[in-house]
Amino acid sequence: MIPAEWKASEAAIIGLGRSGVAASLLLARHGVHVYASDGSSDATATAGAAKLNAAGGIEAVAGSHDLERIARAVVVVVSPGVPPEAPPLEAARAAGVPIVSEIEVALRALDGTCYVAVTGTNGKTTTTALIGHLLRTLGKRVADAGNIGTPLTEIALRDDRPDWIALELSSFQLHDTPSVDPTVGVLTNLSPDHLDRYASADEYYADKALLFRNANETSSWVLNTDDDLVLAMAAGVPGMHHGFGITSAGAEMTFTDGELRWNGVKILAREELPLLGNHNVMNAMAASLAVIAADPAHATRGSLARIADSLRSFRAPPHRLELAGERAGVLWINDSKATNISSTQVAIDGMTRPTILLLGGRHKGEPYTSLADGLKKHVRVVLAYGEAAPIIEEDLEGVVRVERLGNDFAEVVARARAVAKPGDVVLLSPACSSYDMFRNYEERGAAFRRLAGVA
Ligand code: ADP
Repeated sequence: MIPAEWKASEAAIIGLGRSGVAASLLLARHGVHVYASDGSSDATATAGAAKLNAAGGIEAVAGSHDLERIARAVVVVVSPGVPPEAPPLEAARAAGVPIVSEIEVALRALDGTCYVAVTGTNGKTTTTALIGHLLRTLGKRVADAGNIGTPLTEIALRDDRPDWIALELSSFQLHDTPSVDPTVGVLTNLSPDHLDRYASADEYYADKALLFRNANETSSWVLNTDDDLVLAMAAGVPGMHHGFGITSAGAEMTFTDGELRWNGVKILAREELPLLGNHNVMNAMAASLAVIAADPAHATRGSLARIADSLRSFRAPPHRLELAGERAGVLWINDSKATNISSTQVAIDGMTRPTILLLGGRHKGEPYTSLADGLKKHVRVVLAYGEAAPIIEEDLEGVVRVERLGNDFAEVVARARAVAKPGDVVLLSPACSSYDMFRNYEERGAAFRRLAGVA
C-alpha cells in the first residue's frame, strides 16, 4: 500500500529517465503529488519532463533541482545510477527526508504479488532471465524486472498483474528498498565490486545483506554453498535455506557426474544446457532451485521434466559470453557485461583456445593481479586500453604479454585482428566499466561486434 502520509504531501523524484518517469506516474495514479527533477537537460530528461507535465498531478523540471522543495518532500525517490553524494540526495538527508528506490514504490503498489528477488555480484541478469523463462514454461504469467531492464514501477503501472515477477536487484537498489520481502530470494555469489562507489568491500556486502532485512520463518532462500561469503552472510537468517553448488557437499541442487540433480534426481545432462562455462551451470542450478522452492507444485515429476525442457531452450542474454562470429579461423566473443574482475576470471577460465584478451575501460578499484593464473593458462596477449590501461600494464607486468593502447576502440579491435592467428579467440571481457569511452556496456559490445565485422 502507498502510505497515507505520502498522499497528504509531495514526493520528490530524482532523475527523469525511464524509471523516474514510471515512478512519478505510479505515485500520481495513487493520488500523491509529485515534483520530479533532473540535473541534466539532455533529450531523455527533457522528453521525460514533457511526458510528466502532460500527465496531471506532476510538476517536472529538466536541467535543475529545487533543493529547498526536495528538502520539504515527504519522501525522495532516487533513480538507479544517481550517486549518493548528488546534491538533491545530500539535501534530503540533511532534512531527514527518507530516500527510497523506485523498486520500493513499486513493491508498495504491487503489495501481495509473488516475486523471486535475485542479487549477488555476478550472474544476476542471467539467473533472473532463467527464472522468468522457467516460470513461463510452467504456465505462469511472468514479468522480468528491475536491474535486468524494465523498471518495476512500469510493471506496477500495467493493468494486468503478472502471477510472478523475476526481479533483479543491485546492491544500490537494495540499499533503498526497506520493504523487500521476496517469496524466494537468491544470492548468486559474492566478491569485491563497485569499489569506485563503496569505501570498502564490507560496505558493499552490507548492502547485499539487506536482501535478508525482512526475513522470517516463511521466507525461502536459495544460496550458493560453494561460496563461503554467501554462507557466512546467510548464517542464522530465518526461513528455509536451499543450497546449490558444484564443489560443496550436501547441497540440494548439485552438479554430479555431468548432471544437474535435485535431491539426487537428474534434471538435465550438462551437454543439454546451451550455455558456456561452469558459472552458467551455477546460474541454471540457482534458477531451477528458485523455481522449485517457489511452489511445491513445481517439484512434481512432470514439472521437473518441463524445467529440463525449459533449460534446453534458454539462450544467453546478449553481451554475456556471446559468440559474435568467426572469421579466418578466429572466434570473436563478446563479454562486454563482464565489468568486474571475478566475471572476467570466469570468462578466461571458460576459454579452450589461445586467447587475445581486450581488457580496459574505466578502472573500478580492484587490482588485476588476481587474474594472473587464468591469464598464464589461456591468454597469449592482453590488449590494455582506456583509462585503466596504465594500471593494467603495471599490475600484469611479468605475468603475460601486455600491449598498451589508447582509447580509440576501432584501433583496439584492429590490433586484435592483426595479432590473432587462426585457431585463436578474441575475447572482449574488460573487467572495467565502459563509461570512459561509451554510454554503457551494451554500446561497447555493439561496437565490438560491428568493428569485428563477423556478424
Ligand atoms: P550480473 O547481472 O550480475 O552482472 P550477468 O548474468 O549479466 O551478471 O553476467 C555478467 C558477466 O558475469 C558474464 O558475462 C560472465 O562473465 C559473468 N558471470 C555470469 N554468471 C556468473 C557466475 N555465476 N559467477 C561468476 N561470474 C559470472
